Amino acid sequence: MKLYNNLINEIKNSLNDAKVLIKSNKTLNTSAKNSVIFLSDTAFELGGSQKPCVSSLAVTSDINFSNSVYLLGDDIDKIKSDSPFGKFVFIQIENFDDEQNTFNKIKELEALRYHLSVDGFMTRASALNMREQIRVSKKAVKSGVTFADYGQTLLNEYLKFDYVKSAEIYFVTDFDNFDRLNSVAKKISQTTSALNHIFDNVMFDCSTCNLKEICDEVDGLKELHLKTAKK
Ligand code: SF4
Repeated sequence: MKLYNNLINEIKNSLNDAKVLIKSNKTLNTSAKNSVIFLSDTAFELGGSQKPCVSSLAVTSDINFSNSVYLLGDDIDKIKSDSPFGKFVFIQIENFDDEQNTFNKIKELEALRYHLSVDGFMTRASALNMREQIRVSKKAVKSGVTFADYGQTLLNEYLKFDYVKSAEIYFVTDFDNFDRLNSVAKKISQTTSALNHIFDNVMFDCSTCNLKEICDEVDGLKELHLKTAKK
């Protein structure tokens, strides 16, 4: 799986100044059901109050990640009100011969965002506009929780999948290049939409397809559709 490689590299280059967080030994409790944090119990919402907000997940089989959590901007203890928020998850998976199988794994990894709840954090995610707003509870802030703790907890969950080889998570709470990152995240999302379309056995007809722009840009998408359409 190389389709996302250029987009992953573009985001990583844009986040060059992000600092790697010291690996956290504190694993936060998780559950399969999103916990509810009421406004009265919320310290602040990452991406709340219509602040810039973007979230993206991209998969590859041939970039080896550092299994680290990175942060650009303030950590949780410094944030006093709703703030901008970016979250980028990059995952290296095994190289499967079967593209359909690879796509199923991508869907499985994407679904974790909706099915995993971390204590003290309530996620409100929308795949449609790539926003992922996260309420952080007053209790979590008081306990001194950090992005290292939160990110490490998420990282551990991704690494539990037996086909995941490595991963990296970037958090951003201070953007100076939001438009650029948002535009690359949009391309990642469009690439996944194109894969959805391709594996839905939709006819190979680029002249009538609304995904033509992304398929013209991302190497390999057209070839993949042609190959699957022939099967
Ligand atoms: S290859 Fe053509 S038909 Fe297939 S998803 Fe891309 S634009 Fe659409």
